[in-house]
Amino acid sequence: MAIRSNTTIPFTTTSYLESKWQSLFEGRNEALVTLAMLFISHEIIYFARCIPYLIADQFPALQKYKIQQKTIQNTAENQWKVFRYVLMSHFIFELPMIVGFHPVAVYFGMAISSVPFPPLSTMALQVFLFFVFEDFFHYWAHRGLHYGPFYRYIHKLHHEWSAPFGLAAEYAHPIEVLILGTGTIAGPLIWCYFTHDLHLITTFTWMTLRLFQAVEAHSGYDFPWSTHNWLPFWSGAEHHDYHHMAFTNNFSTSFRWWDHIFGTNKKYLAYKQKKDNELKAHQAKKVM
Ligand SMILES: [Zn+2]
Ligand SMILES: [Zn+2]
Repeated sequence: MAIRSNTTIPFTTTSYLESKWQSLFEGRNEALVTLAMLFISHEIIYFARCIPYLIADQFPALQKYKIQQKTIQNTAENQWKVFRYVLMSHFIFELPMIVGFHPVAVYFGMAISSVPFPPLSTMALQVFLFFVFEDFFHYWAHRGLHYGPFYRYIHKLHHEWSAPFGLAAEYAHPIEVLILGTGTIAGPLIWCYFTHDLHLITTFTWMTLRLFQAVEAHSGYDFPWSTHNWLPFWSGAEHHDYHHMAFTNNFSTSFRWWDHIFGTNKKYLAYKQKKDNELKAHQAKKVM
């Protein structure tokens, strides 16, 4: 691991964050601080990320961006049901997983409370690699969950919503939470095992972005500013929404390439083509 001298770090926003990070851990039990930080931030980030979509639900002018116009499931009643389930799942199933995170991370050699933080370029590269790893892991695990009994007894719960909404991102069976959560944490642990060069702040950044990705993918909205509209290989809601609607194709999380390579996007592409043709025919009729 590269060792950088503190004296070379100018007084920047990063060094301010580093001192805040240090004071967070100073004189406290590292495992407990990590646990509290990961759990509390998970709650805040997950539910806060859903708020813009809950607000969008209230604006009729934004409903034209809803991907599925005919199936409406983002009712207050459904959202309340999902909110209660997800909150319960966070406390009963995810909290014990987070409790186990610190000892495992330390065992694999992750830097937890130490500063300085890694350079931003290192963090960006590592986060990108975790995205790629998770996407590949999720693709196959998710395809596996669509196999007969696995689907019936595990994954069916997540598919209760054929027109999903942001809060439904983590609406899943505890076994699914465990399997797919493995894809999120295994990347950093494997990286750490081989390089001994990973800081908790990078893992934390990755987990935050992964939550953003999951909520966006389930939002049910395809806004002009949605990620895939400026990053064409990004899956986003437009890609995952089809999976919920059709119960097949589009198994990946973040990127579109595995579904393309393994041919699990054919029905989705045909559907898109049909919709495009319908739209063109409709516009042509209006001009005449
Ligand atoms: Zn599925
Ligand atoms: Zn989903």
